[in-house]
Amino acid sequence: MSAKLIKGTEIREQILEEITAEVAEIKEKHGVVPGLVTILVGENPASISYVTLKIKTAHRVGFHEIQDSQPVDLSEEALLGLIDKYNKDDAIHGILVQLPLPKHVDEKKVLNAIDPDKDVDGFHPVNVGRLMIGGDEVKFPPCTPAGIQEMIVRAGVETKGAEVVVVGRSNIVGKPIANMMLQKGVGANSTVTIVHTGTKDLASHCQRADILIVAAGVPGLVKPEWIKPGACVIDVGVNRIGEKISEKTGKKIAILSGDVDFDAAKEIAGWITPVPGGVGPMTITMLMKNTLKSLKFKLGIA
Ligand code: NAP
Repeated sequence: MSAKLIKGTEIREQILEEITAEVAEIKEKHGVVPGLVTILVGENPASISYVTLKIKTAHRVGFHEIQDSQPVDLSEEALLGLIDKYNKDDAIHGILVQLPLPKHVDEKKVLNAIDPDKDVDGFHPVNVGRLMIGGDEVKFPPCTPAGIQEMIVRAGVETKGAEVVVVGRSNIVGKPIANMMLQKGVGANSTVTIVHTGTKDLASHCQRADILIVAAGVPGLVKPEWIKPGACVIDVGVNRIGEKISEKTGKKIAILSGDVDFDAAKEIAGWITPVPGGVGPMTITMLMKNTLKSLKFKLGIA
């Protein structure tokens, strides 16, 4: 293997330690800790396991954490009332509504009701606009793209002047990471191309990339011959391609694959993220970072 592995699991540990230390310092100086509420409507098993991990991580870093679990038939009006309550709660600095919401609830209306200054997921149109403007305007970059940028920076990959190609144009990964990489500043200042299903000759664009960020959700989409030798390859894709029995627990678990042919790509790339253990662990980590930031903005120390 020639590529250096960029392990999200290791970077997560570093960042969570940094957050824990900062939370302790703020608590000592200002007598307050970041407060995060997670609102879960219904009992979707994937949402429950995701929320459980968020709560565990929030406790680990010393946050005040509230899990607000609501029945699946909670009305839209009642959910909006809950959000209003947390918008006004001074002990809460981050509000997270776990998606997907039940069909009778208008997701957009609910997300737009969150105070943009507590929108630690960064999906409110105000925060999308702030991200687009860049620089000091940015409050909460969305968590997965923020994690990707953090990995690139901590791996020591040069971004200034780099050709960055982003495969995928979703609102949660492709568009925001492309926007972040083109801003002037540290970990950015790149020349960015976004490719998608309407792109002619995907291969030729990828072959130009010094940094190739792939978020398509198509296993094995990126072929080894599309990778420029020495490039940094960030594989965001998480695809279930089968099941196996876990050696640890004896239970059935999903076999996951990214969007890149990892075994062949690692012989060509300069850096590469594995799946699992690459971008995945960064999302919740950056949620913690955004929640801490929210408190720091409030205290005027960000
Ligand atoms: P999405 O909303 O489905 O968007 C996928 C994008 O990829 C679309 O823009 C689509 O193009 C493009 N695309 C799909 N097939 C393509 C192809 N054959 N050629 C070129 N472009 C293609 O997905 P997403 O939410 O961004 O997620 C992408 C992947 O990342 C998924 O596997 C998801 O599970 C994973 N993910 C991981 C994390 C994490 O690790 N924390 C977080 C979020 C997402 P069109 O717009 O033209 O349809």
